[in-house]
Amino acid sequence: MRQRYKPWANDYIKNNSHLIIPNASDYISKWRTLFNNQNPIHLEIGTGKGQFLVGMAKQYPNINFIGIELEKSVIVVAAQKMQEANLKNVLLLNENAMDVSSFFSANEISGIYLNFSDPWPKNRHEKRRLTYHTFLEQYKVILKPGSEVVLKTDNQGLFEYSLVSFSQFGMTLEEVNLNLHEINDSQNIMTEYEEKFAAKRQAIYRCRAAFFD
Ligand code: SAM
Repeated sequence: MRQRYKPWANDYIKNNSHLIIPNASDYISKWRTLFNNQNPIHLEIGTGKGQFLVGMAKQYPNINFIGIELEKSVIVVAAQKMQEANLKNVLLLNENAMDVSSFFSANEISGIYLNFSDPWPKNRHEKRRLTYHTFLEQYKVILKPGSEVVLKTDNQGLFEYSLVSFSQFGMTLEEVNLNLHEINDSQNIMTEYEEKFAAKRQAIYRCRAAFFD
């Protein structure tokens, strides 16, 4: 997500370490102590400006949500939304999801959302796609058996690639939806990107894939 450089972002992140948790790997196996409950934890990878994460945290108060976002100038916008909503069940990490299995222990996570992930269409960038097998290997470790990876995208190429990648990895495809907004899913929380594409009447693809063994 391209965002104007925000010179105040570094200071904001330092001063809001209760919202954007520094040194994520220090909390491996200990996330529930930060949330102060035993509720399941769901992750969004590539949270952007946080509309989905905050919307989900409001809709599901008995689930803890953690958003991972690489870009400082973007994560601070998500943190401001969290602050305004004053929610106790959502945290952010300013980290690269390449290292996600060093932040969470085996079976610590009960769901992963990949919303409008960067498609990286060039073959030489395949390894950066969040559904490349090296990411799936890590998701499999941190997810409880039977938990889902939920992917939403407007990008047909990334969608098709991800379906193949999930299948080759032995995941079970539980939903393959080629036009999410046609079905009027009242539980669907729209992301910032989703709203833009929906306004242009572009199809939104959704897939839910689970690991079982
Ligand atoms: N999910 C938001 C939405 O749907 O509106 C943002 C979508 S934007 C196209 C993708 C976001 O993923 C960007 O903000 C980018 O910085 C973040 N991102 C990409 N690769 C990442 C990675 N490896 N780890 C963490 N964040 C990543």
